[in-house]
Amino acid sequence: MKPAPFDYAAPRSLDETLDLLAERGGEGKILAGGQSLLPVLNFRLAQPALLVDVNRVAGLDTLAATADGGLAVGALVRQRRLERDPEVARRAPLLAEAIRHVAHPQIRARGTLCGSLAHADPAAELPAVALALGARLRLRRRGGERWLEAARFFTGLFATALAPDEMLVEVHFPPAPARTGTAFLEAARRHGDYAQAGVAASVTLGEDGRCRAARLVFLAVGEGPIDAARSAAALVGERPEGTLLEAVARQAAATEIDPLGDIHASAEFKRHLAAVLARRALTEASARAAA
Ligand SMILES: Cc1cc2nc3c(=O)[nH]c(=O)nc-3n(C[C@H](O)[C@H](O)[C@H](O)COP(=O)(O)OP(=O)(O)OC[C@H]3O[C@@H](n4cnc5c(N)ncnc54)[C@H](O)[C@@H]3O)c2cc1C
Repeated sequence: MKPAPFDYAAPRSLDETLDLLAERGGEGKILAGGQSLLPVLNFRLAQPALLVDVNRVAGLDTLAATADGGLAVGALVRQRRLERDPEVARRAPLLAEAIRHVAHPQIRARGTLCGSLAHADPAAELPAVALALGARLRLRRRGGERWLEAARFFTGLFATALAPDEMLVEVHFPPAPARTGTAFLEAARRHGDYAQAGVAASVTLGEDGRCRAARLVFLAVGEGPIDAARSAAALVGERPEGTLLEAVARQAAATEIDPLGDIHASAEFKRHLAAVLARRALTEASARAAA
């Protein structure tokens, strides 16, 4: 199919972009990499009256270390750049590890982190990473801005806290505490396909080798990224070892996710996958934290 007719604007500045979004109320949609938006338009799942193509807006492709030791990623930083930049691997290794699972190099060459977060596909890797790393998101609108925790940004199936006149301009990944290890795993039918189930894990150890903090975030097994916080809390104060990790993974998959069956996999199979992936990811993250 072809998209419904729309107006097209290609602003050169952020102010101009925000003016357009404000003036056209809920009618405007931002076009970043177009890797999710164009299929949506072609299938007429959305029919915005205006596309605001931000690809020529200056200053949005900043990828920089922040003063606190974290990483700031602007709205036009392509996923392929995140995959290749050594600073990303150093400061946010979970992001670097997960991003290789996003589609294929051609798609990553255009797609953006911010576009993926704004699209909020429940099977997408990057929303789960943002949640697992406690990312903060900077949202701008004409005359104002606000920062939101990733945990408050994702509100449901393809739904976020973004208002129609707001743009996600930057994502800030805070520095990881000392002795933190992370791991990302997913199962997909073919490499580059959307996951049938996936998980991002983060484990921080104390000097005594006991767990100080743990995070386990699932993708593709519910309406959005799922932070299995209740199950992960059982690790705190304990040594993250075999039987305990297995129990936490099983508990999380049994009680904190809500997979839907489809033509490729039943809900039961996805739950099983989630438990296996969670155990492996927690084991790997713990080993990396200890190293
Ligand atoms: C064949 C194929 C396979 C794919 N496989 C995967 C996969 O395995 N995993 C995965 O995660 N993704 C996958 N994708 C999607 C891909 O990662 C997209 O790049 C990403 O979801 C959207 O980023 P984008 O920059 O292309 O956004 P766009 O497509 O331009 O926009 C997506 C949505 O976000 C909004 N938006 C974009 N940027 C902003 C912003 N800065 N502020 C506010 N709103 C904004 C748009 O208005 C639109 O609603 C696949 C895509 C294709 C075509």
